[in-house]
Amino acid sequence: MNLGRYVRRTAGHHPTAEAVVCGATRLTYAELDDHSDRLAVALRGLGLHQGDRVATLAANRAELVVTEVALYKAGLVRAPINARLGAGEVAHLLRESDARVLLADAAHLAAVRDALSGTGVKTVIGYDGPSDMGPGYLDTMYGNEPEPVAVECAEGDAAVLHFTSGSTGTLKAAIQTYGNRLALLRKMVMSADTRVGLGDKQILAGPVTHASGMPLMGIFFAGGCAVILPRWDPEEFLATIQRERATHAFVVPTMVNTVLALPNARAYDTSSLRQLIYGAAPMSPQRIREAWEFFGPVLSQGYGCGETTSGVLFLSTEDHRRAIEGEDEELLLSCGRPLAEAEVAIVGEDGTPVPDGEIGEIAVRGPDVVPGYLGAPELTAASFRDGWFLTGDLARRRTDGYVFIVDRKKDMIVSGGFNIYAVEVESVLHQHPDVYEAAVVGVPDEQWGEAVKAVVVPRDGTILTEAALIDFCADRLARMKKPRSVDFVAALPHNPNGKIDRRAIRDRYWAGADRR
Ligand code: AMP
Repeated sequence: MNLGRYVRRTAGHHPTAEAVVCGATRLTYAELDDHSDRLAVALRGLGLHQGDRVATLAANRAELVVTEVALYKAGLVRAPINARLGAGEVAHLLRESDARVLLADAAHLAAVRDALSGTGVKTVIGYDGPSDMGPGYLDTMYGNEPEPVAVECAEGDAAVLHFTSGSTGTLKAAIQTYGNRLALLRKMVMSADTRVGLGDKQILAGPVTHASGMPLMGIFFAGGCAVILPRWDPEEFLATIQRERATHAFVVPTMVNTVLALPNARAYDTSSLRQLIYGAAPMSPQRIREAWEFFGPVLSQGYGCGETTSGVLFLSTEDHRRAIEGEDEELLLSCGRPLAEAEVAIVGEDGTPVPDGEIGEIAVRGPDVVPGYLGAPELTAASFRDGWFLTGDLARRRTDGYVFIVDRKKDMIVSGGFNIYAVEVESVLHQHPDVYEAAVVGVPDEQWGEAVKAVVVPRDGTILTEAALIDFCADRLARMKKPRSVDFVAALPHNPNGKIDRRAIRDRYWAGADRR
């Protein structure tokens, strides 16, 4: 098998159809196939052998997609590094992945150039031109004849070293195999909600090296077009939907917040959208309703992680409709039911399933689940049990299969012996019309062990007070769950994938104190 073959097949059928659009660059399938062949030949020409690792470090650009396809064709393992990480973290990941070759844009290369000497990287291919460590990307395009490369790969071979976003603490590489990536491709094309076929265009709004890039091979398998935003800008997002007549888009909740906050959002025509898939973090029911009102009946939600090679639970557009029209309002708090092949169980501390309705940890088993972490046998042993991956997310399941996340295990607040789930308190805060974004963390408290603290970004031009917000929560939550204090801030920290970084917020309050 070779995933790159699907691009070649689609290019054979639809050579002039557009495959990738990013900024001013537009690539047809014939071009994507040709460029990736040339790059595959160039990479093999550097003395790399099947299974060797190649890292990338760049902001969104079309060349990252060409690189992904070239690496599949050449049987090389891709180690995409999030471009928003610092130089020390990048050097750490380069060492972890044992990459010999790095493809990088000029800005990010400049930032990490000095740190490269401590890594195994011998050659750098510069997306913006040659560097002192190797040729420019265009030289690899035009310096050699394309050859239809497609080495044979096995299901168990590593395809991608997926560095998790860091929302769980240390950055670690989940080893995604060809089998995992094929399972991802199957789940994308299996369902009408997620298939992006010929004539369709999907906007990928976040970093394509991470969650936002997961749909790419599914799009290329089915002949659709990936429209990649060079950077997140809510107005540009709306303008791109209008200009490209985009049919699908994949976003994270914080992006939806910024779109809905735009004063002139209604000036854009988004009527071409058939699917707006959000996921990777929770979104409050209030915000889902606002998004439904703005974008129309096109929302669906995915839940998954790097270790499950994207989504394993899915809340369909029909589910959203039933929730919003009042048939089953609770569904606005659900992240859906199992998608495609993955089995999902809610398990207790001993790993056995808990009864429906009780809270346990989400465990996932199936062809999309990675075999483990690179060079971390202890972490692998702690996170995988009998083929099940333990996600670290706490949830309950309804008898009809819908899963409701209550919190991440590490974000649960234990106050006076009660378990308080940050997500529940946050979703109440988001119901307040003057709250733009909110995070809830446990802070040290002599009496309670931990106390609930809300950190809130008010909407522009509003005057919110701590007392009013606490009262608002007290009216809607059990007494022990209401925030004991509120801090107002101009912005919340987000991790490189756009998720609110609760750990960074919590750490501020725990400096010098011990936490579980
Ligand atoms: P990562 O592997 O870094 O993408 O992070 C995966 C984590 O993101 C999951 O374990 C969840 O905690 C969170 N997550 C992903 N999708 C959702 C969703 N739809 N709703 C709530 N949390 C989510």
